[in-house]
Amino acid sequence: MHELALAEEIVRVADKEAAHVGATRVLSVGVTVGQLMQVEVDCLLFLLGIVGDTSRYTAGAAFEATVEPARLHCPECGATWDMDDWVFLCGRCGSTEVRALSGERLEVTTMEVELDGDGQRTGATDRW
Ligand SMILES: [Zn+2]
Repeated sequence: MHELALAEEIVRVADKEAAHVGATRVLSVGVTVGQLMQVEVDCLLFLLGIVGDTSRYTAGAAFEATVEPARLHCPECGATWDMDDWVFLCGRCGSTEVRALSGERLEVTTMEVELDGDGQRTGATDRW
């Protein structure tokens, strides 16, 4: 399943970063999901809850997902628009040489960690 592999990768990235900064646990993880990744966000969040609980860092962490809209560009005529349907055809000139400017990424964009283990949120938000 597509979403399961993604959930495992997200938890792996969060674990690695938590270990890197010396965190005792991860409080929250925010992921940005490009519209073109065709991810079922509710399914991904559900799986992140399950996969996250298998890691000592992310067990109990809050996972949040933000969908990044797909923005398309036609190099033939220079038109740029937000994709609504799954149509990769320029509405202005009819070209099929359409490129995506955004919406193709899936990454961990924010993380909040606990550094000292005594309940203080000293990590604030970590972006990379
Ligand atoms: Zn065009």
